[in-house]
Order: sequence, then structure tokens, then C-alpha cells
Amino acid sequence: MFIPTRSAGLDALEEFVPRAGFDYARNRNHDLGVSRDNVSKLSPYVRHRLVTEHEVVAAVLERHSLRGADKFVQEVFWRTYWKGWLEQNPEVWRRYRRDVEEFATGDLLEAYRDAVAGRTGIDAMDAWVHELIDTGYLHNHTRMWFASIWIFTLGLPWQLGADFFYRHLLDGDAASNTLSWRWVAGLQTKGKTYLASASNIAQYTEGRFSPTGLASEARALAEDPLPPRTAIEPNDVVGQLGDRIGLMLHEEDLEAGSLLAEQPGLADRLVATAAVADSGERSPFAASEAVAAFTATALDDAAARTLDAGGRPARILVDTLPSTVLCWAESEQLDTVVVPFAPVGPVHERLEKLRPILASEGVALVSVRRRWDSLAWPHASRGFFPFREQIPTLVRQLGVAPSL
Ligand SMILES: Cc1cc2nc3c(=O)[nH]c(=O)nc-3n(C[C@H](O)[C@H](O)[C@H](O)COP(=O)(O)OP(=O)(O)OC[C@H]3O[C@@H](n4cnc5c(N)ncnc54)[C@H](O)[C@@H]3O)c2cc1C
Repeated sequence: MFIPTRSAGLDALEEFVPRAGFDYARNRNHDLGVSRDNVSKLSPYVRHRLVTEHEVVAAVLERHSLRGADKFVQEVFWRTYWKGWLEQNPEVWRRYRRDVEEFATGDLLEAYRDAVAGRTGIDAMDAWVHELIDTGYLHNHTRMWFASIWIFTLGLPWQLGADFFYRHLLDGDAASNTLSWRWVAGLQTKGKTYLASASNIAQYTEGRFSPTGLASEARALAEDPLPPRTAIEPNDVVGQLGDRIGLMLHEEDLEAGSLLAEQPGLADRLVATAAVADSGERSPFAASEAVAAFTATALDDAAARTLDAGGRPARILVDTLPSTVLCWAESEQLDTVVVPFAPVGPVHERLEKLRPILASEGVALVSVRRRWDSLAWPHASRGFFPFREQIPTLVRQLGVAPSL
């Protein structure tokens, strides 16, 4: 269903653009199964930036006005919002990782085992579990119903549900996934939960499912207060670059062309390029085979497109272990390894471990953040609604729709 290449992502975008306006706003909440051409299905591409948010919004606004496609554009900015919010509240991620780790090393509940095996006896849930495992994708509305039933009907820990999604979704994303689960649980918008009802499910699946026995109330979960927000620091790249620069792509951003275009002259100075993936770090239970395969092929695709100044394609590194990266850096005599900025999540964790080790060998690790993120993320400090107000300004500043 999802071919992990940039060209397949661009084809899917082109095919979807005509439907991104009124049709999308009217039909997006329906999950009719199988074809789902009422939504874009671009998320696995956007998640790895095989296709960037900038490209998606620009293509849509070339065809539609911002007003005509506002719902779709807002959805793309939900992703940006979640990423900017988590960046400013990394403690949420740390707690989630700690909790999942604790569950994974303890005795797992029988009810959890039944749920992830598709044996709850709730027809819809069991079908969605199989769909998720088989396809690596679920419709947005279905994800909301699933999370709500998991938390409020089955009474299972939200962290284990988020983990189950994260290791099976091709678009599995630290921010969008963790924070959406928290939103359903009433942790993200304090006290506001999402309750799935049989009638809503029946209506939006056009009668495919009508589960019985669902919880009739959803009491918000509680948590210890979060520490103060972490500010988004400016990203000054130029002053940190040495003479022999290598670019190392990772699964958070696989479109080097537009990333490098934002740093004039950098592309011509790359003496080597590499690409590294380790989707297994998503979870102590390991990512699904489908996720591992999608990510690995996406990486191969990016490697073939990412040439150094001498025209060589990127070398695939098997992992980000310091020994692996150092071996590559030494063989290319690098003094600087440039990486796309990795937002809060496993790749970020790995790079932060790598940074001091490379530094001790005289190699600087320099993160390059896209303008899209640098401009938008600081606005994601409160709820989505004040963030949404910024969208017209952001698309103008980002040059996505210069005529606005
Ligand atoms: C419990 C739960 C878990 C989720 N986990 C993830 C996840 O791990 N990764 C992920 O990318 N999305 C996640 N989402 C958001 C959303 O469900 C998917 O992005 C969307 O279903 C992808 O399908 P699409 O590409 O057809 O979306 P479309 O409706 O066509 O939207 C276009 C693009 O906008 C972005 N987008 C749309 N809706 C959202 C949203 N609510 N939040 C963030 N971005 C959005 C995606 O990049 C998507 O490709 C989750 C939602 C819930 C409720």
C-alpha cells in the first residue's frame, strides 16, 4: 500500500491535491475502509520527510486558496504543532519512555496481551488491531476511537497503547503519537477527554462496526505537574562548520535537497554523505517488521538521492553506534558531521549520546533545523487554537503561499 520512496510520496501528493479542499473538509472523518481516498494517506512520507510539510502545503495552495483548503492545511500544521510542543516539554517524552520501559520489564497484563492479539471480543477493536498490524496505518478517527476504547473501556495503560501504535504505524512519530494518546486520555488538554461511542463509530464507518459494551464515561487521567517549558534555541549553523564536512541523514528527515538549500553553499562543501536508520529503538518491544522494512527502504531511497560534492551516493551506516560513525568520519577525514535536526524522540537521544564522543575525537556534530520548524515551533507553546491563528502568517513567511 505504501511504497517507501520519495517519488511514490510525490505521486500520492499529486494525486490527492485536487481533493484537498471542500471534499476533504466534508469527508475526512469517515473511515470507510480499504481505499480511503477521502484522506491523503501521506503520513508515512511526511513523517520521514520523504516529502516535506512545505511541499505538501505548497502543492495544495497552488491549487486551492488557504480558505478553501484550510482544514487540510490545519491538519498538516497539527503535526508541526505537536512537534513544537514536545520540543518545549521533553519531560513528557522522558516519562513516557520510562513508563513503557517499566511495563516492558514487569508482568504484562492478560488484558493487554488479549488486546494486542485482537482478542478483546469488541469487533471493531479486534479488526483495527489486525488492520494496524497488517497495513501499518489506521485512519485518524479510528485512532481516536481505538485509543479511547483502550483507555476507558479496557482500562489499559495509555502508554502501552501508544507503544503498540508507535511500533506498528509506518508514520509512528514520537510527538504526534504520544501527544494524541495523551489528548484522548485528558492529559494533554487537562481534564478534556475523548469518549468513543458506538453510534459515532457506526455513523462514520457507515455501519461496518457497531461495538457494544463501550464505556459511557471517560474520566481524565492525572499526572504530576510538568516542569517549565524549554525554550526553542536559535539554530546557528554557519559558525560551527569545519573544513571537511559530512552529511549524515537519519529517519527523521530524508530530503537533503531542500534542507541543504536553506544553508547556502553547504551542499558544495560536502566531502561525504551517509544515511543511518534504527527504527528498532522506537520501543523496548521493537518496531514491527513492516516499520523496519519501510524505514530501511526509505533510507536506501534517500541514500541514492543524496550525493556528496564528488557525486558519490550516501553510504548506509548500519547504526549510530559511536564506533560506526567514527569509523566513517575517520575514513573520510571529517571534522564536522552535519545532521538534520532530530526532534525529541529516539534519534535525538542517540545523537545526544554520540555528540560528546565525536567531540572528544575532534569531530563536531552540527544539527541543521529547517526554517519551517524554527519559525513555527516557538508558537506551539500553548494550545492548538492560538497556534492555528498563526498559520496564515507562517505560510506567508515560509514562502508557501507568497501572495497571501
Ligand atoms: C491516538 C493517535 C495516534 C496518532 N499517531 C500518529 C503518529 O504516530 N504519526 C502521525 O503522523 N500521526 C499520528 N496521528 C495523527 C493522524 O491520525 C495521522 O497523521 C493521520 O491519520 C494520517 O493519515 P493521512 O496522511 O491520510 O492524514 P490526512 O488527514 O490526509 O492529513 C494530512 C497530513 O497531516 C498530518 N496530520 C493529520 N492529522 C494529524 C493529527 N491529528 N496530528 C498530527 N498530524 C496530523 C499528517 O502528516 C498527515 O499526513 C495520531 C492520531 C491519534 C488520534
